[in-house]
Amino acid sequence: MELRKDPITRSWVMTGDDFADGVPRPETACRFCPDSPNRTQVIAAAPNAVSWSAQSVVHPTPLYHIEGEPGRRGDGIYDRMSSVGAHEVLVENPRHDRQLWHASDEEIGQFLRLASERILDLKRDPRVKYVSLFKDHGPNAGQEFAHPTSQLTATMFVPRRVLYELRAGREYFQAKERCVFCDILAQEERQATRVIEAHGDYVALGPYAPRVPYETWIIPRNHDASFERTGLSKPGLRTNLAALLRRTLQRVRALTEGFHLVLHTSPNSLHPSKTLGYWKTIDDDYHWHIEIMPIIAAKARSYTFKEVYYSPVSSETAVKQLREARIDG
Ligand SMILES: [Zn+2]
Ligand SMILES: [Zn+2]
Ligand SMILES: [Zn+2]
Repeated sequence: MELRKDPITRSWVMTGDDFADGVPRPETACRFCPDSPNRTQVIAAAPNAVSWSAQSVVHPTPLYHIEGEPGRRGDGIYDRMSSVGAHEVLVENPRHDRQLWHASDEEIGQFLRLASERILDLKRDPRVKYVSLFKDHGPNAGQEFAHPTSQLTATMFVPRRVLYELRAGREYFQAKERCVFCDILAQEERQATRVIEAHGDYVALGPYAPRVPYETWIIPRNHDASFERTGLSKPGLRTNLAALLRRTLQRVRALTEGFHLVLHTSPNSLHPSKTLGYWKTIDDDYHWHIEIMPIIAAKARSYTFKEVYYSPVSSETAVKQLREARIDG
């Protein structure tokens, strides 16, 4: 597998002939349970935990490899590089059946703290441009492991969607001297039709133009480009975010089993790029958030029209249902 850059959109894709992909792997004992005979190597664990909560471990079949050089090179008008980077599994909980939405706020808080530490640590590598945190849950979401896990990838490029957001955030800021995410949040809180729930300094809302039914964002009220900065600052912030994340996942799960969750945070500004403009104003014009894309099997049409997102449930209706969904508390 290698990375190739689309010269028009300037986004990187991972491509190659991986014939093993999609072939189910033989069932073996869970690698992530504490007593597993074939546990993968632990990279880091949540500090000061009474019993361990979250742990970061080596991905058994990584998409990105630490060894080697990205070897970015031209190919006529094209750009390619090898898939150098890092790929970790964040084991959210030692218990095989304790999903994030069943965990305590303290456990989720430890998971968020560990995620922040890992992101910060991976960003110390000057080659790393971006660290992605994501979770795929459910058979239709491409869930990889039965154990409650999320994944982290550190890449030598900024993923496409984040790149679009960075460019848009910078342009909006240049025109208005305001953060587009702060403006969205202010209007949504004022109108209150698409706010699912606010908790402490965090708001869960349905975006005005959803890509899929029940798409949900979690955004901090206070402007901050970097999740990991928040995640490592006040424990109170973390607890509020943990509670809102848990409750929001419960709401989504009341409507559908599967979802994709992705964190959008600032790229590696420890080592800013000299040439890319969006690196210069990131702290002002970018605003971290979590995006949750539920998977509605019966609404599969929404995923077939890739060129224009087709979402047959309006955000206003979705938010009403999500607000009214039964959750544990
Ligand atoms: Zn397990
Ligand atoms: Zn903002
Ligand atoms: Zn985003």
